[in-house]
Amino acid sequence: MDERTPDDRRRPSRDDPRRRTRDDPRWAGRDDAWWAARRAGFSQAGLAEPVPWADPREVARLRASRGRGRPGQPLVPTSVASPRLSDELFARLLAYGTPQETHRGDVLFQPGDEDVDLIVVERGTVAVIRTATADVPAATVATVDAGGFVGELNLLTGQNTYLQAQVQTGGTIYRVSPERLRQLMANDVELSDIVFKALIARRELLQRSTAALSVEIVGGNRSAAALALRTYAARQSLIHLWFDADTPAGRAMMRSSSLTADDLPAVVLPGETLRQATPGELADKLGLSYRRSSTKPVDVTIVGAGPAGLAAAVYGASEGLDTLLLDAVGTGGQAAASSRIENYFGFPFGLSGADLTGRAVLQALKFGAQLASPCQAVKLDTDRNGQLLRLHLQGGEVIDTKAVVIATGARYRALPLERWPDFEGAGIYYAATELEARGCTGSPVTVIGGANSAGQAALYLAGRGSEVSLVVRGADIAAEMSAYLVDRLLAHPRVTVRHRSEVTRLDGEDFLEEVSITDRTADETQAQACSGLFCFIGAEPATDWLTGIATEDDGFIRTDVQLTGDDLGPAWAALGRRPLAFETNVPGVFAVGDVHSGSMKRVAAATGEGASAIASVHKAIADLG
Ligand SMILES: Cc1cc2nc3c(=O)[nH]c(=O)nc-3n(C[C@H](O)[C@H](O)[C@H](O)COP(=O)(O)OP(=O)(O)OC[C@H]3O[C@@H](n4cnc5c(N)ncnc54)[C@H](O)[C@@H]3O)c2cc1C
Repeated sequence: MDERTPDDRRRPSRDDPRRRTRDDPRWAGRDDAWWAARRAGFSQAGLAEPVPWADPREVARLRASRGRGRPGQPLVPTSVASPRLSDELFARLLAYGTPQETHRGDVLFQPGDEDVDLIVVERGTVAVIRTATADVPAATVATVDAGGFVGELNLLTGQNTYLQAQVQTGGTIYRVSPERLRQLMANDVELSDIVFKALIARRELLQRSTAALSVEIVGGNRSAAALALRTYAARQSLIHLWFDADTPAGRAMMRSSSLTADDLPAVVLPGETLRQATPGELADKLGLSYRRSSTKPVDVTIVGAGPAGLAAAVYGASEGLDTLLLDAVGTGGQAAASSRIENYFGFPFGLSGADLTGRAVLQALKFGAQLASPCQAVKLDTDRNGQLLRLHLQGGEVIDTKAVVIATGARYRALPLERWPDFEGAGIYYAATELEARGCTGSPVTVIGGANSAGQAALYLAGRGSEVSLVVRGADIAAEMSAYLVDRLLAHPRVTVRHRSEVTRLDGEDFLEEVSITDRTADETQAQACSGLFCFIGAEPATDWLTGIATEDDGFIRTDVQLTGDDLGPAWAALGRRPLAFETNVPGVFAVGDVHSGSMKRVAAATGEGASAIASVHKAIADLG
């Protein structure tokens, strides 16, 4: 008779190869092949190694796949992908599920399935398989035995599954539905911490495993359409692989998937290939577009998933509001384009914008916020239909919601030059603080703009030892700039003002190295070295989709004390109150972050406004009765 406790039976024996870890002295010095022989498995005790991949060609591809904006450091160590639960915790986890007897060969979920369950294995074994694609055969990604659970972060993001779960040894599983998983996350802090960390760690492991071959993106390295796809995939932390079409691996992948140059960019999914793919099509296929199963109106819909919108989502969801967060591009906003944010409170060594916003996304998901992107709001009906606001999306969907938070930010005006997006954050900046200027000290720089912000930046950079070319489109710098600045600029030995001039070309490898400036009077173009291009030609709020919302002349949204009596229609008299903090002239509609008039245009200010607005949202919803 087997004398072991149920806990012992689930735990592999001390000599079981699955218990070996690299820091165990008994296995020191073993090579990768030996470790690979341990077999992949993310629910095995002590698993601290990445899931192995089969051939070196894949390793090269995987290395090449780290897309722009992807967070650098994993948030949790990958070792927590394989939690071994105590009997008591395991029983608590089972209590959220519904039992099902299984037999060898049963398929528990397969690629494309929506709203999959977390699968807890009480008895038996389940294999997680990447099914075959056009260019690679099927492979086992992980095996999960009794005491483990099958699932990764898509259980929270709502992404359709891209892997298959198949029963290897029959037994009993418990299915925890998405709804029950959310209840677990909200009600059981101890269990939710373990499960949530495991889901995050598995996403990290899967990105480095053969599972990444489930979503293959191929396109030109310099193609804007391919970059849009890659940026979307990176911002959503999608498990995927990127192929540059101009490399041997890319060409081989295109051949085996029967793709031609006209098909690019393309995405190869299990059983399906998207040609001339867009982020919207990819999101539709993966189930990341907007969809709503409930017929109930949303409590708060947040438009824009930059720092302001993400903070609103974290606070809204954590305070029990049914919270929907939409973004026209992907999560992260402008902040995701910042390679290093050094002035964000609490991070003395700085962190990348993608890292910061990636963490916020996980936090919002953990509290149960629904995220959808790309998902563009195109209209907001501001005359409340009964009690509700109606938000219209580009695809024609309409969302009934009790409150709306507008967090659509502002777009810095850019010049329509080839390679401009390549150099944003890599030589092109929209601010001239210590952070941006550090890499340019003593090197020649170019400042564009004729207003005070450009003048101040030029003086600041010249003061740090740079030769500054101030490029002004008009004939007279004094037309828009304060006299004191004009005098100082003209007197400064390291500032050259280039009137009636424009930057017309950018050059460099990964970083901006040279600009061409065209003098419109002489009709001459001159190339010159440039380690930093500082652009101050204004910012435009993303408010063109709104009507009936009070704004300043420049389009930035006015709220609360910025609103005058003339802005407030009869609805306010009926409500018997003035607009709350961050509330616009339309009751229940709020504006936060860069889109808000007078905002500081900084990450910390945006997150502060997003979080604070939720207190007002609660009051506005309470007013609805
Ligand atoms: C290169 C760069 C570096 C920066 N560095 C720093 C720094 O070091 N420190 C600092 O404090 N600040 C920095 N900033 C500024 C900071 O990023 C912004 O102040 C901050 O991101 C503003 O946050 P937000 O949420 O208000 O707007 P955004 O970050 O602009 O986000 C707005 C979001 O709304 C979405 N959106 C727009 N219209 C719609 C629509 N109709 N429907 C759905 N979604 C929509 C957009 O896609 C976007 O994702 C930097 C900015 C840039 C560009």
